[in-house]
Amino acid sequence: MARSALRGRLVDFVGDPSHSDSVLRVIDDGLLLIGEGRIVARGEYGKLASALGPDEEVADYTGCLLLPGFIDTHTHFPQLDVIASPADGLLDWLTQHTYPAEARFADPAVCEDAARFFLDELSANGTTSACVLGTVHAQSVEALFTEAQARGMRLVAGKCLMDRNCPPELRDETDAGVYQSVELADRWHGKGRLAYAITPRFAASCTERQLKLAGELARARPELYVQSHLAESEAEVKWVRELFPRARSYLDVYDAAGLLRSRSVYAHCIWLDGADRRRFAQARATAAVCPTSNLFLGSGAFDFRQAMQAGMSIALGTDVGGGESPSMLATMRAAHDVARARGTALSAAQLYYWATRGAAQALGWDDQVGTLESGAEADVVVLDPAATPLLARRTAAAESVESLLFALMVLGDDRVVRETFVAGRPSKPRQRLASSATSAVDSARTRELSRRFMGRLRTAPGGGVLKP
Ligand SMILES: [Zn+2]
Repeated sequence: MARSALRGRLVDFVGDPSHSDSVLRVIDDGLLLIGEGRIVARGEYGKLASALGPDEEVADYTGCLLLPGFIDTHTHFPQLDVIASPADGLLDWLTQHTYPAEARFADPAVCEDAARFFLDELSANGTTSACVLGTVHAQSVEALFTEAQARGMRLVAGKCLMDRNCPPELRDETDAGVYQSVELADRWHGKGRLAYAITPRFAASCTERQLKLAGELARARPELYVQSHLAESEAEVKWVRELFPRARSYLDVYDAAGLLRSRSVYAHCIWLDGADRRRFAQARATAAVCPTSNLFLGSGAFDFRQAMQAGMSIALGTDVGGGESPSMLATMRAAHDVARARGTALSAAQLYYWATRGAAQALGWDDQVGTLESGAEADVVVLDPAATPLLARRTAAAESVESLLFALMVLGDDRVVRETFVAGRPSKPRQRLASSATSAVDSARTRELSRRFMGRLRTAPGGGVLKP
């Protein structure tokens, strides 16, 4: 059996830091033995090195931290092309940037190019798994799964269901959109490390009938994931109240449709009340908190304290392109800042836990990823605390692993990611040319679509739309 070995400081979690102080597990000079995509042994370098065969080479990352690969629980691969696009509020952002970008995904060649670029970005940032929204087009998800399968990545994805309140180019046939989801799930769910997510874009983009059909599918196929957006901005909440006057709350719209259960992942979850939080926790759904997106779009601030007190399952998402970065380090940093602004102190351990083992647990991947335990899939990120002069200066004085993690989170970006291993294979892209990234972007076509959408722009009842 071909094996490889990684040497460095091993850092992972054996539990949730909010429940216990002693869950951070560290081996200062550690070794991971990897075979057939899995960690076959872990331990002290001094003890394990003798188990290496004469032709087994050790990749030496002494001075670096080896962590489980990051898990991004909410992102949109078709929106990378509109990241960092300023807009005058949510509706403007959606119509001016997002819809035109997503309309281009009718072309399979655009889907394939974007899928490759997106997965390269994940690896560049140390993210080894993600829950990803495609566009309304089945081919967007087809392209993403095909590319992820070739790379051996563990990925959840789904095509958006959206049969109202969107441009005709992006509108589903109500029933056909759900049938397409079934076909995609049949073809991809459980293939390799891939999983399908039933993906109503958000309540306001779906008719009651489409939500109901999606809920029936979710009940019939409990192994599938559900992903959507929930209570992102106040205007959106108000609009959903008008569209679904019988629902007690925004959350109740999904609950009534049968879309609130374990393996359901809801982005944002900002504007919830106490009854919502209790119900959310009881249903064992997961909140994908996306703080850079919430800050960028001015949507609001997730209440970590109340969510934790209610027992809600929490994970983190980048929400690219409303989010400002595909980096989970940037996402953790923003989560820290948002919590701090609300008077809650989140430790580095808590944030890294949510980005690794906590997300794995939330997605039902316990012991498969999010850990460096023997037997786990070898998804590993190597972080270099001396990647930049400022980091090197700061971390030289770090007195603990926790303070190293904190400094990496605050000062780090993709430069600190020395390598990313997906199922034991190095996957950080090398020598990417900035010019190649722009090959698929037809700016004239995008401008034309943007002009058409803006021409049709109508403000939703209640003055709001959404971003999703
Ligand atoms: Zn989103």
